[in-house]
Amino acid sequence: MLRLTFLGTSSSRPTVRRGVSSLAVQREGDLHLFDCGEGTQRQMMRFGVGFNVVSVFLTHLHADHYLGLPGLLRTMSLQGREEELAIHCPAGREADVRAAVLIGGDRLTFPLRFEGLEPGQAAAFGGYQIRAFATEHTAASVGYALTEPNRLGRFDVERARAAGVPEGPLFGRLHRGEDVELPDGRMMRALELVGPARPGRTLVYSGDTRPCKATREAADGADLLVHEATFTREEIDRARETRHSTAGEAGRVAADAGVRRLVLTHFSARYSELPRLMVAEAKKEFSRVTAAEDGTEIEVPLREKEA
Ligand SMILES: [Zn+2]
Ligand SMILES: [Zn+2]
Repeated sequence: MLRLTFLGTSSSRPTVRRGVSSLAVQREGDLHLFDCGEGTQRQMMRFGVGFNVVSVFLTHLHADHYLGLPGLLRTMSLQGREEELAIHCPAGREADVRAAVLIGGDRLTFPLRFEGLEPGQAAAFGGYQIRAFATEHTAASVGYALTEPNRLGRFDVERARAAGVPEGPLFGRLHRGEDVELPDGRMMRALELVGPARPGRTLVYSGDTRPCKATREAADGADLLVHEATFTREEIDRARETRHSTAGEAGRVAADAGVRRLVLTHFSARYSELPRLMVAEAKKEFSRVTAAEDGTEIEVPLREKEA
């Protein structure tokens, strides 16, 4: 299972309809937060995302991306959490993050680990990793790519049985690509029973950024790209000045990277009620696009074979 829940989709400040940046990513039993703007913990309750967060990934230290942490940490503490919580951020900003989230001398019931990530560095989890990549914003910033390794190819059980392979450990060895000797002395080649490796999934979160090469590279062939779209093209000058993207630019990045699906987020308050404007603009560049609302849930399905 790989599921996203958009907790906040507004840029800079909340609106009646949208909270500021935060995205919950659940992969099997692991829950991660990508950014944690003000009010995130209430959105987690509202949209049924538990508080059992393994780690937080901050794209940069603008207030709309991390101010939700002090309150969230305090709630976790009131609940008696004991497990360590890892907070990732752009390398070099660890001390700033620590100072920003531990306000008022709060004593927490659980340890915090602050870990800066240089572009290219990754945090490893069981069966996948989350890697930072360089983005272009007004603060030290990164985006994050969650990637899974390729999965083993499909094992043809019927064919293995018909070929006289006894069920048991030989099945596993063949599936992992090993040629094996059968009890009757015949050699069995894995290639005859196992299909091509199946691709793992890739999910890319841009954070705040101008459209940039590193995002295109990180999102190359990705299953899902979540890209900021703060403005429409009428405000391209403002987008350039504040180092944000327009919806059309986000669409262009998705098209260049050849992703399967694009979801826009981080809308300027003036477009809060008008996400269709953003979608219409991005669609001119890339058709498989939608705009996130607070509470939007997206499942990223496994792929059977290379498309
Ligand atoms: Zn922002
Ligand atoms: Zn920002």
